Amino acid sequence: MVDDDTVLQRVELAPESLEHYADVAGRDVVDELLELGRSLRGARVAHVNATSYGGGVSELLRSLLPLYRGLGIDAEWLVIPGNDEFFRVTKMLHNALQGADDGPGDTDRELYLEHSAALARAFVDGFDFVIAHDPQPAALRQLRGRDGARWIWRCHIDTSEPNPRALEFLTPYIGAHDALVFTLERFVPAALRDHRVAVIPPGIDPLSPKNLALPANVSRGLVRWSGVHLDRPLVVQVSRFDPWKDPLGVIDAYRRIREEVPGTQLALLGQMALDDPEGWEMYRLILEEAHGDPDIEVLTNFTGIGNVEVNAFQSTADLVLQKSIREGFGLVVSESLWKGTAVVAGRAGGIPLQMPEGIGGYLVDSIDETVARSVALLHDPRLAQELGAAGRARVRERMLITRMLRDELRLLLSLG
Ligand code: UDP
Repeated sequence: MVDDDTVLQRVELAPESLEHYADVAGRDVVDELLELGRSLRGARVAHVNATSYGGGVSELLRSLLPLYRGLGIDAEWLVIPGNDEFFRVTKMLHNALQGADDGPGDTDRELYLEHSAALARAFVDGFDFVIAHDPQPAALRQLRGRDGARWIWRCHIDTSEPNPRALEFLTPYIGAHDALVFTLERFVPAALRDHRVAVIPPGIDPLSPKNLALPANVSRGLVRWSGVHLDRPLVVQVSRFDPWKDPLGVIDAYRRIREEVPGTQLALLGQMALDDPEGWEMYRLILEEAHGDPDIEVLTNFTGIGNVEVNAFQSTADLVLQKSIREGFGLVVSESLWKGTAVVAGRAGGIPLQMPEGIGGYLVDSIDETVARSVALLHDPRLAQELGAAGRARVRERMLITRMLRDELRLLLSLG
């Protein structure tokens, strides 16, 4: 009998035609994708991750899978089921790979491997390529052994300074893949440098409900309805409630910004990912910190914040903050820049790739700098607009999902 706890869930998505992207991404980009698609037509591809909802990976897969299918590639999105214990361990591994002190103990290792072995047994045969995302499905390839598929491990996190115990534990499993993909060259751990590695940053989907152009009156109406006063400045951070995104530091910085620019409001938009047990505790701490402050809105998917609302907030904000301490990529940065909104962001992981010096806003290393740069931009809306426009141009050129898809298909073909 198959245990329900190990049956991978298929996420059903309709194909999307690449033709729709020609205007925004360029005819040449679409033509190259069609060409790559012809070479891979009929190939069976599985993307495997741990949640269909919440966080950047599910955001990417939600947009990528329909495009694969639009190209005639037989692609599926499979979600591995877990339980509280498994997701506790995988979140700990995630944090540890980003440098947290707490590494896996014996019980954690056993739990992880036991559930991974059950998932490996339940995994379906017949794929030409399997792309496993992040630590949750990282052991499947090794535990399944050779099954006729080429396996790729796609790392979305900042592994530049990993906890040695976590890395040492995962290296044999990660290393069993035919290729590894990282967002930046410097994320590749020394122990894995001899493997076949591709560097592919993610990208945003310009046609998704989160990123398509909304009429200004619609954006403003949605933001106003959420409790924001449109006649006063608005600063926004959109992220999972996660310590690496430093939401408490954002509140701290915001209170100091408000002293200099009176009337400024803060909206913290957060999402509870299904595989992120830490989110609830962080949410509680944020509510405690913001309690009684009428100018701080804490909004979540449980109070009606979906993709369109995120779009509206990113479009309407005078300034977006992304005060990350560690960040694999940070899709939210490109999402905001795409709307022409200036960003003040932590100089972490993949963020500088999206907004190098002078483009999109300012990179900061401390709360003091966050405050100073934010105040400067709130005082000078024209500068904020210029930086935002430069950011949008860079996203169009380098951070769209069509570029990511191209890089990924080239990799599959090279492994063929
Ligand atoms: N997000 C959202 N609603 C929220 C918070 C986040 O839709 O309230 C989305 C956000 O727009 C982005 C993704 O979740 O698309 C987060 O991806 P990112 O790469 O920034 O960070 P991750 O969560 O993967 O660490």
